[in-house]
Amino acid sequence: EDREDSLVEFTDAMLDAQTYHAELSNLLEQALAAGGEGLSFAIQPIHSLKRRGWCAGEVLLRWEHAERGPISPGVFIPIAEASDLIIKLGDWTLETMLSRLADEPALAQLDYLSLNISPKQLYTRRFVDTALALAARHGIDPGRISFELTEHVKLLDRSTLTAEITRLRQAGFRVALDDFGTGYTSISFLKEIPFSSIKIDRSLIAGLTDRDAREARGIMDGLLYLVKRLQRGVVIEGVETEEEVEILHAMGADFLQGYYFQRPLAWAAFFAELPAQASR
Ligand code: C2E
Ligand code: CA
Ligand code: CA
Ligand code: CA
Repeated sequence: EDREDSLVEFTDAMLDAQTYHAELSNLLEQALAAGGEGLSFAIQPIHSLKRRGWCAGEVLLRWEHAERGPISPGVFIPIAEASDLIIKLGDWTLETMLSRLADEPALAQLDYLSLNISPKQLYTRRFVDTALALAARHGIDPGRISFELTEHVKLLDRSTLTAEITRLRQAGFRVALDDFGTGYTSISFLKEIPFSSIKIDRSLIAGLTDRDAREARGIMDGLLYLVKRLQRGVVIEGVETEEEVEILHAMGADFLQGYYFQRPLAWAAFFAELPAQASR
């Protein structure tokens, strides 16, 4: 058989991408080996319309390399996720965030803070015990911590995921399904897995303010109805304009996140602003 496709031809661009990927992966490995050098956290508030203020926050990883400058999580997270590096990075993030929260009594002014996790962290089957032990060590109520699990990567081993998420919920943590509307989740998955809440991806608000917005509004309205019927919370992400806020408000949405309210703030700036902005 003549197998031309076995002679893979690498173009210049493919080689560059491969080299870049390997290089960033190495740099990230080094950053972790150096105790998280160059890594930090930003926090973006989640705003409650009904309570008129910040009710929660999402922790977002930041990486500034000494020579390379800032590298976006949209770039380095997928690279880490391609290998088991995401597990090391996730361990560092969880440990560091919880230990820093021990020094932030203002956490009590929020319903919760959320942290993004990769499904790979749950597949290790030690995540729940680690999270519980760290929360206990730092005196943090698990109910004030939410883990966001994205649906844009294909969730391979659903039975393990269901089991681990159920254990997280039993331990008192919240678990949110992130980026809903972009990926692979079926309605049956939503029913089967005890998510505390659903985060609706910003791609679904894109069409709300178009001249012909009937379809986009129908989809958003339907999703909000569905989530309510399933008795789950809902956060809508990527809200950028007042017009979007008005439409979502009219649909009965409460919890919104996006540049309209606040861009992500450095950790210290978030906690400095919190007393003035908190909704409780
Ligand atoms: P995500 O979880 O969907 O996080 C929301 C992203 O949308 C953030 O980008 C945030 O800055 C951005 N955003 C917020 N409001 C708006 C808005 O109104 N308009 C627009 N255009 N964008 C908005 P960021 O910080 O660059 O994070 C990108 C992604 O990286 C996150 O998407 C998440 O999937 C991943 N990520 C970030 N930190 C972590 C982490 O600690 N662990 C893991 N596993 N993933 C992380
Ligand atoms: Ca080249
Ligand atoms: Ca998220
Ligand atoms: Ca998201």
